[in-house]
Amino acid sequence: MNAPYQPSMSLSAKISRKLLPLRARRDIRVLLKRPIVSFTFDDFPRSALYEGADMLAKHKWRATFYVAAGLAGVQNHHGQSFDKTDLAGLQAKSHEIAGHTYSHLDCGQSTQKQVLAEIARNNVALTAMGVKSPIEHFAWPYGTTNIGNKTALAGHFKSMRGVMSGVNRGRADLNCLKSAPLFSGAKLNHTLGLIEGLKKRPGWLILFTHDVRDNPSEWGVTTKEFLETIAAVKASGALVLPVGEALEMVKNDYG
Ligand SMILES: [Zn+2]
Repeated sequence: MNAPYQPSMSLSAKISRKLLPLRARRDIRVLLKRPIVSFTFDDFPRSALYEGADMLAKHKWRATFYVAAGLAGVQNHHGQSFDKTDLAGLQAKSHEIAGHTYSHLDCGQSTQKQVLAEIARNNVALTAMGVKSPIEHFAWPYGTTNIGNKTALAGHFKSMRGVMSGVNRGRADLNCLKSAPLFSGAKLNHTLGLIEGLKKRPGWLILFTHDVRDNPSEWGVTTKEFLETIAAVKASGALVLPVGEALEMVKNDYG
């Protein structure tokens, strides 16, 4: 996969994407007194680990990596992808490894059978590459899904994350958790605003990005912007945890 794939932009696809947040929900109550932030990396390029996660480690923070095993060793628009050694590195540094289908499938355009087969294939491949922990959390590639797949995966993962921008607070959908992009340029300001907003209205904010490097892709961030984000999260007073641990805190009405 060398060129970025774009999910369907047809009118019907746009309408179903708009309605989807209301359908096939698995609601959880998010009532926090202190905000929680989760840093997440998708796919993942090596720079996510050696630039992004290593910057987090300076604050003793850990992240969640949503891994599509079929991207191992691939060079694409995000730069060089992870390999087996990098997965060992993630485990040694106690980061969380989560699922993202095997081939980075557009689940909005796929049947339940196709998606479940991809998830099984990803799990087998990750195990073969030395991943020991169970894969309990998932992010929809491109943030796309459909009602059938939201329902089908609910029994397989404790949470699924989408890309609909926002903070999870009040009533949140475990089948498609909201998130906020750490993307270079103007979009970052909106996310920094969400982080700032946590001070007044605590919630669970899941940040996501891909490559972390100078001249990043459209879906990545510079190291300078990543540091700026870390500083904003520090200033918000949020607890920083991988998705799985954050979800346990949320379930206990942490704070
Ligand atoms: Zn992805």
